[in-house]
Parts: sequence; C-alpha cells; structure tokens
Amino acid sequence: MRLLREIAGHEQIIRALLNALLHDRVGHAYLFAGPEGVGKATTALAFAGALLCEGADRGDACGRCRACRQFEHANHPDFHWVRPAGSSIKIEQIRGIQRKVMFRSYQGGRKVIIIEQAEAMTAEAANCLLKTLEEPPDETVFVLLTALPQALPATVLSRCQQYIFKLIPFHELASLLNKQHGLAREEARLLAALSGGSPGKALAYVSGSFQKRRDAAVRLTVLLQEAGALEALAEAERMSKNRDEALGLLEMLACWYRDLLIWQETGEAGLLFNPDQINALKKGAGYFETGRLVGIIEIIAKAKNKILANANMRLVLEVLFLRLAGGMSGTQTDLEVNQWD
Ligand SMILES: [Zn+2]
Repeated sequence: MRLLREIAGHEQIIRALLNALLHDRVGHAYLFAGPEGVGKATTALAFAGALLCEGADRGDACGRCRACRQFEHANHPDFHWVRPAGSSIKIEQIRGIQRKVMFRSYQGGRKVIIIEQAEAMTAEAANCLLKTLEEPPDETVFVLLTALPQALPATVLSRCQQYIFKLIPFHELASLLNKQHGLAREEARLLAALSGGSPGKALAYVSGSFQKRRDAAVRLTVLLQEAGALEALAEAERMSKNRDEALGLLEMLACWYRDLLIWQETGEAGLLFNPDQINALKKGAGYFETGRLVGIIEIIAKAKNKILANANMRLVLEVLFLRLAGGMSGTQTDLEVNQWD
C-alpha cells in the first residue's frame, strides 16, 4: 500500500493530513479538489490507510498491522468507496453508506468513506449526504473527490475541509517519473510535458504503447510536410475515429512542433522533450520558419480545445491537417489563426 509520506508532490497537503493524524485532529469530512489524474484518489487512499491503521507510525499507516493488510487487499470492512453508478451517484447509494456508518465500526477503529466524482451526486443524494455531514457519526471520515468543486452544493462544501490539488511542475514530475517509476530521463521529460503536470495522465501514457504513438505522430508530421490536400483529408478521416487517440496525437504533435521551434531558436538539446529524436528534429527544423511554427502550435492547441468542447472531430482535424500540410512551401507563413476563433 502507498503511504502518505511516499506520495510525491502536494507536500503541503500531505503535511497537513499527517499533522491532523498525528495530533488526533482529524475532521469528519474532507474535499480533495483538482484536475483529473493529479493525485487526489492516490492521496485519499493513503489517507484512508493511515486512518484505519492500528499501529500508526508518526501518523502514517504502518503497512504491517491487520488493518493495513486488510486494506491492502481491499477487504477492510470499515472502508467504503462510492463511485457513480452510470452517470450519477444516486440517493440509494448514499443511504446505503448512511446505514453502514450508523453503527460502531466492525473493528473498533474509524470508518472511512471515499466518494469519487462527488459532483456527480444527484441533488437528492447531496442533500442526503448533507444530513450525515451535519450530524457526523463518531469516528467516521468522509473524503469527497472532485474535479469540479463548483458543481457541489455550497452547503456540502461548507461542511468539508477543502484541499486543492494543483498540477505538478514540469521538472518535479519529470524527476518523479524518472526516480519513482524508473523511466529513462528523456521519456520522463516527454511524458511530464505531454501530461501537463498530471502524474495519473503521465502514467497512463506509460501503460499505453507510448513509443508507437510517438512514432505515429512523427510519421504524420513528415507525411503532412509533403502531403497534398487529399492525403491530409484522408489522414483526418482516419484519425477522427477515436477521440482519445486523436487527443493524444494532438498533444504529441504540439510537443514535436514545440521542439522544432526550441531547436531553431536555441540549438539546445537539453531543452527538448524528444532529445532522442535529435536527428529527425534537426532535419524537420529546416522546413519551417519560426513564425509558422508558432502558428502551428497555436492552431493545434485550438483544435484540441474544440475537440474537448465536442466539436465535430472530423471537421476540426480536416481543417487542422489542411493547414499543416505543405510545410515546405513557406507560402503559408500567415496561418490567419484568428479567423478560427
Ligand atoms: Zn497498520
């Protein structure tokens, strides 16, 4: 099991939680808010482990006692995890939890309930939870996780100690991926960049076939440099079939063009996200004027935002790829980015 003190990043939050544990000043309800993949659930789990541990070590879980072993094997009877059933968390789910926390804990210690995507509670469910938070049962700790705290009723928010999880700075995340997860330094840097500071997202890239996807992105840039309109459109159609894949590809493309720009401007391999691709980058950098690279990076970011806002994906990719096509000509320096707003 992951201990609180082993969690990288979020030092202030971890310190506050450990302090509360150590000095027996644990609250009844916590809200962990912050972007997806930033470490809210990981921290909540480690916190739950520490709350349930029977032989706590400086506030943190010991990792060895009966409770820790049960927790590690996901069969601690006083620990409950609530997540949306379908698209929402229903009142029946909260009532089920209420029944469980009404009585003494099975093992005489605390009861811990984590509510994932708490913003997905229906109004009735939130109201029902509020009643419990207003008269909290003894030795019961709720941890609500959400990326959208503003979507929770103010009455629920006001009952919780709130912790805001922030994205992890690039260098910190790169070093974390390198040291804790054993990634090569170059890969750690690239994944830190691609994930935008979210360890969960970075690790999801690791589990996917990262290298294959990066190669596909590089191939696409080369193809587009030489492509005519028909090839660009065909590529857009192909890519528009899978939203997650398309979004991942756009992030990789943006990093690639960013590297071309950095190489052109500084010639510093140490600043690149793809330092292992230095030869391809040197070659690619010669194709573009600086202004065009800046424009390309901007239109990729816009395309990504449009897809995230559920615009027609094929249309967005068609427009993007047509604009990226023919990089050599130099006649498209002005990408008229503003027309696309
Ligand atoms: Zn323990």
